[in-house]
Amino acid sequence: MTELETAIKTMPKVELHRHLEGCVRIPTIIRTALRHNLKLPTFDAAELSKTARLSGPMDSLTEVLKMFEIAQSVFVSYGVVEEITRQALEDAYRKENVRLLELRYSPDFMLKGKDLDWQKTLEVIASAAHSFQRKYPVFTGIIIIASRSYGMDSVLKTIDFAVKNKALIAGFDFADDEINYPAALYAEAVKKLHEAEIPLTIHSGEEGRFGQVLDAINFLAPRRIGHGVKAIEDPSGRTIELIKEKGITIETNPYSNYLTRAVARLEDHPLKKFIEAGVSVSIGADDPEILDTDLNKEYLLAVEKTGLSTADLAYANKCALAASFLPPDKKQEAAKWFAPQGS
Ligand SMILES: [Zn+2]
Repeated sequence: MTELETAIKTMPKVELHRHLEGCVRIPTIIRTALRHNLKLPTFDAAELSKTARLSGPMDSLTEVLKMFEIAQSVFVSYGVVEEITRQALEDAYRKENVRLLELRYSPDFMLKGKDLDWQKTLEVIASAAHSFQRKYPVFTGIIIIASRSYGMDSVLKTIDFAVKNKALIAGFDFADDEINYPAALYAEAVKKLHEAEIPLTIHSGEEGRFGQVLDAINFLAPRRIGHGVKAIEDPSGRTIELIKEKGITIETNPYSNYLTRAVARLEDHPLKKFIEAGVSVSIGADDPEILDTDLNKEYLLAVEKTGLSTADLAYANKCALAASFLPPDKKQEAAKWFAPQGS
C-alpha cells in the first residue's frame, strides 16, 4: 500500500450517498438464494460477480438494472434485511473508516413483490443501525427514497410513509429516472416533507441537462443534490451560483458517474471545478457492491484522476459533516473524530 493509500484508508470519513440495495455482498446473495430457493443466474461467486457487479463503463442501462434486480431479489425476510444492513455498516466502518453514514433505500423498490411490511422493514433497518452505533464509534441515519419511475402513487405513498416515520429517519430523496419524471411534478407533494421539516436531497443532473438541476432547486428546495454533474454545463454559471446561494451540497459519486457514462472519463468529472467554485461537496460511493467501489477507491481516484489534493478530501469531509441530515448534537459529537490530530 502506498503512503497515500494508507492515509486515505485511515482517514475518518463521512458518507452521505449510499444505497442499501447497492450494499449486498455477493456471498450474502448466494447464501440467501440457496436458503430461500431463489433463482440466480449462477451460484458461483466468481461468476455471479461478473453478472451482478459492474466492472467497467456500462453497455446499457438494462445491464445495470439487472444487477439491481439480483441484489433486490434477496430482501426476502426481516432477518435478511437486518443482516444486509449490519454488513453494510460493518463494511463502511471496518474497511473505509466511515464514521458518519447516511444509508438510503427505496421501500417500494426494495420490497416490490415481497411479503414484507414497509413499517416493520424500516424498524428492522433502524434497529440494526442503532445497535451498530451503540457498539462502534459511528453515527448513522436513514434516508427514505421515492422511486420516480414507480409513478405518482408510489411517490405519494413514500412521502406519507416518511412523514409518519419522521422520528426514525434522517431525510428524504427522489431517485431514478429524472428525465421522464421532472421536478415540477413533485412541487406540491414535497410541501408535506417541508412542513414536517424532513430534509430533502434529490438525484438530479446525473444525466440530461443542467436545467433539471435548476428545476430541482426551484421546485423542490432540496438541501442537497445527488450527483449534479450537469450543473457545471450551464454556460452562464447561474446553476452553480444558485447552488452556492442556497447553501446546497452536491453529493458527488465520481466512479458511479464514470461507470454509468455520465462522464466519459474520470478526468472529466467536475468535482474539482465544484470545489474551485466554492461549492459544498461530498464524495460518495453510491452502490459500493454493485459498482465495485468504496470510499477508499473513490478518494484515491479523486486524487489520481480528478485532481483533488488531500486538503480537498478533508474539505469534502468537512462539507459532508456540515451537510449531514443527522441532528446537530450527533454532528457535534461526530465532529470530534474529524478534528485535526493534536487539536
Ligand atoms: Zn444514488
